[in-house]
Amino acid sequence: MSDDGAPVFDAEIMRRVLEYAGMFDVPVIQHCEEPSLVRGGVMNEGFVATELGLPGIPSVAEEIMIAVTFFDRIHQLSYHVAHMSTAGSVKLVREAKQKGIAITCEVTPHHFTLTDDAVRSFDTNTKMNPPLRPGTMLKR
Ligand SMILES: [Zn+2]
Repeated sequence: MSDDGAPVFDAEIMRRVLEYAGMFDVPVIQHCEEPSLVRGGVMNEGFVATELGLPGIPSVAEEIMIAVTFFDRIHQLSYHVAHMSTAGSVKLVREAKQKGIAITCEVTPHHFTLTDDAVRSFDTNTKMNPPLRPGTMLKR
């Protein structure tokens, strides 16, 4: 099951989701963007957003959701982080794996190959959630 499209950022609800999903051995896939940090943002928060005068979405919007969700409570559950976009998220997933947590993740091809510089074109196809980040994930 997944919350993609409408991220759940309520620790109690997510705890229950993970517990019930675990009872039926059903993996949970989460779109990790904390809604109050995303609100109004249209691209990555950073230099390019400032130059363009567009409201940004900070990396921590994604990372805080991963950290809160897996923090010491889903060791036996299957949890997947959908379309990650930050180096901090990769670090969190790596740390969780080292602790034996059953966590997986994936990255989209456009997050590997494009940066927030692509938004300078004002092509609306370059605006997405999570947003394109500065530098590629391969370089970070
Ligand atoms: Zn999503």
